[in-house]
Amino acid sequence: MQTKLPKVGTTIFTTMSQMANEYQAINLSQGFPNFPIDPLIEELLAKNSKENVHQYTPMAGLPALLEGIAALVSRVYQRNIHPATEILVTAGATQGIFAALQALVHPGEEVVILDPAYDCYDPAVHLAGGKPVHISMREDFTIDWKEVRETVNQKTRILIINNPHNPSGKMMEESDFNSLVQVMGDHPNLILISDEVYEFITFEKKHFSAHNHEILRNRSIIVSSFGKTFHLTGWKVGYLIAPEYILKEIKKVHQYLVFSVNSVAQKTLADYISTTDVTTLGTFYQDKRDRFKELMAKSKFELLPSEGTYFQTARYKAISQLSDVQFCEWMVKEVGVAAIPLSVFYEDSTDYRTIRFCFAKTDETLVQAAERLCRI
Ligand code: PMP
Ligand code: GLN
Repeated sequence: MQTKLPKVGTTIFTTMSQMANEYQAINLSQGFPNFPIDPLIEELLAKNSKENVHQYTPMAGLPALLEGIAALVSRVYQRNIHPATEILVTAGATQGIFAALQALVHPGEEVVILDPAYDCYDPAVHLAGGKPVHISMREDFTIDWKEVRETVNQKTRILIINNPHNPSGKMMEESDFNSLVQVMGDHPNLILISDEVYEFITFEKKHFSAHNHEILRNRSIIVSSFGKTFHLTGWKVGYLIAPEYILKEIKKVHQYLVFSVNSVAQKTLADYISTTDVTTLGTFYQDKRDRFKELMAKSKFELLPSEGTYFQTARYKAISQLSDVQFCEWMVKEVGVAAIPLSVFYEDSTDYRTIRFCFAKTDETLVQAAERLCRI
């Protein structure tokens, strides 16, 4: 059969998590927390599941949750958004990004993607009939804005950025943000997808959000995920924030893709969202990052800066000459720790001999993993 996505196989997250299970390795590969969620969420979920909240919610989201999201955005970003017209609750950030690309990209139009890039962007552009145009970041994961400026043209419909960045853990500086604003200013028809799912998992540096700039917010789809913010990756609930003229189009796709998102989850999140202070999330994960770094100090890995997200990248040149994919396979089998090779996030499989560890884990897991990694 002629396949629509010839280059797509099983995602690296599935592959590595399966290998971790098979070899009973400690799984620092796929990004998900292994500690319990806030007990309050469990209580609210139990309470809500006894109430009559088991039917379809309105297509764009439960009104109470839309209100809660608007209040959160107002608290954190001092931005007022209209719950009824500028927010769409999605089945995770993934579905939101997919719906946005299907709604906005016409056949032949280009979408600029910065590699290493999260894996769901490229196939969604292909399915929309668009052309993904990949630009590689520099080896230190900074963005070459000159190249971005030279690449964006009349046919470019969308620029996708991801900040804080998965897989590198880097965050955009003010100068990056200014360059982004300039590119958007130079191309009035360009739309930005700003994937900010790790917006609250930030450490020393300030997060420059598309919410905080007028040019950007008027032409951006800003992507958030409750999976990251409330440690609930399996719930698959996220949301898009975009101006009404853009979101209206995305809703047309959303209504036929899923129509609406899990009602009990939405009601529980609506009850929970106003009770929590998302600004403590950064400190919570910063402690984990520091703990992991300290535990890894005696290892032969070279740890790269982790400024946000729950990922720590590491170079292993002092340990092995294997490709990063082979090195991760070897590690899961022989060392008992699973990680993610970065080359899979590059269209051209660039391999800087760098792998990604997820530190959203209990201290006990981090100690055990680091013990094994320090023995290499
Ligand atoms: N974007 C990025 C950068 C991610 O890392 C992830 C998931 N880890 C997603 C989107 C998808 O998020 P969700 O699980 O809410 O679909
Ligand atoms: N986003 C998660 C990560 O980067 C994985 C999500 C998935 O498995 N699709 O590890």
